[in-house]
Amino acid sequence: MASIEFVRVTKAFDKNVVIQDLDLKIEDGKFTVLVGPSGCGKTTLLRMIAGIDPQTSGSVLIGGKDVTRVAPGQRGVAMVFQNYAIYPTMSVRENIEFGLKNNKVEKEERTRLVETVSATVGLQPYLDRKPSTLSGGQRQRVALARAMVKKPSVFLMDEPLSNLDAKLRAQMRIELIEMHKKLGTTFVYVTHDQVEAMSMADTIVLMNQGQIQQEAKPEVIYRQPSNLFAAQFIGVPPMNVGELGIDGVRFGFRPESAELSGEPRSETEYAIQGTIVTREMLGSETLYQVRSGRHSFMVKSTQDLFSVDQHVYLGVDASKLYFFAADEKRIDP
Ligand code: ATP
Repeated sequence: MASIEFVRVTKAFDKNVVIQDLDLKIEDGKFTVLVGPSGCGKTTLLRMIAGIDPQTSGSVLIGGKDVTRVAPGQRGVAMVFQNYAIYPTMSVRENIEFGLKNNKVEKEERTRLVETVSATVGLQPYLDRKPSTLSGGQRQRVALARAMVKKPSVFLMDEPLSNLDAKLRAQMRIELIEMHKKLGTTFVYVTHDQVEAMSMADTIVLMNQGQIQQEAKPEVIYRQPSNLFAAQFIGVPPMNVGELGIDGVRFGFRPESAELSGEPRSETEYAIQGTIVTREMLGSETLYQVRSGRHSFMVKSTQDLFSVDQHVYLGVDASKLYFFAADEKRIDP
């Protein structure tokens, strides 16, 4: 049982309050991703769970137990950072074994654990190599194996893939999902990359300026964003937003929800007129930027039919329109 709970947690650095009265429950055994723009407080939350940088007030519970007075090493958590701390002079095996030796685990048990864990992350062929002879992805696996071997009940990861190239990152995302399935441990993963959040999370906790904006499954945040921030943070390119000109209400639609036409059809169907300002071929889709008065909308189309400077008509199915009130909350129609 290793759920994590924040109860009215505040964190201040000197007089600078970065988290205020935060309540959050992270479910046991789930892959939870904390996502949000730089500086929103993700790492601060993770460090409070680990006990590296304790909260100013409020409580943090792990497995239902208040850990405020529990030292980091006794919390049953393991942390993996983007700058994975692996020792260059030690072999892969020695790196993985290191924490176990420190904890005075017997040699036989150490060997068994290193074998099991390295099989899980695919490091068996590299156990006698030095980290300098490994690829970035393999080194990241050493860092994961080092954390895993301690059998933590909670895995904390802070942007662990950000030093890898795009292809390797995509591969490691899949490996992390598989690793989570195998281990069944609570994962708390911090990233500012919404693609990572969408592809890996059971639950996304979306933050901005120290506050939780929405906590939901990826598809729920995507389909039913609770506010304008959530609507525009999740999704590439972000949701288009325009003014309705009444009481501060704004409308929004996803780039893939709009249809372009060179000819006007019925007035209601293609209500927005504009001019194509950019055209970007993405492979199976084309991304158009359409200027309409003071608005600019992105439209993702499976048809590569339009050219720059062309006058177009833009239609969005009414069921795919979103509306936001003046306080930026989504209005449920
Ligand atoms: P990033 O994605 O850039 O890592 P983040 O969401 O993880 O950002 P945090 O590192 O949690 O953000 O920082 C939240 C806020 O707290 C920031 O405004 C930051 O400047 C401030 N902060 C973090 N650590 C300290 C510190 N040790 N002393 C003072 N302020 C700090």
